[in-house]
Amino acid sequence: MAYDPDNVFARILRGEIPCKKICEDTVTLAFHDINPKAPTHALVIPKGAYVDHNDFAARATDAEIASLERMVGKVADMLGVSEGGYRLISNCGGNAHQDVPHYHVHILGGRALGPMLAK
Ligand code: 5GP
Repeated sequence: MAYDPDNVFARILRGEIPCKKICEDTVTLAFHDINPKAPTHALVIPKGAYVDHNDFAARATDAEIASLERMVGKVADMLGVSEGGYRLISNCGGNAHQDVPHYHVHILGGRALGPMLAK
């Protein structure tokens, strides 16, 4: 799938719409989800134009991949969910119900999250 430069996360990265930023570096941004599904619900995204995890894994530089992975851990610490536990989700494509076609990792925590998938 071609990258859509008008997706909502691209617009956040361009500063066209606001976000509640948690932290960033030159290649990665973390912010709070606008519609949280748990007491803690953050999103970590690359600043580069990647559609989904497959695209990111195939084309991102090692520096971009390291930055994103490390920022996920840092945000979990910053938001206080590392000790109690948290869940990472990255929806990829249609069967996973990916709504925003810019690669992102959800960090969910702050309560017992139940089984991994609804039946
Ligand atoms: P997906 O279904 O693509 O894995 O998840 C997309 C996520 O983006 C959803 O959890 C949704 O609440 C979040 N989201 C959609 N639009 C916005 C927005 O404008 N700002 C923020 N902060 N989150 C958004």
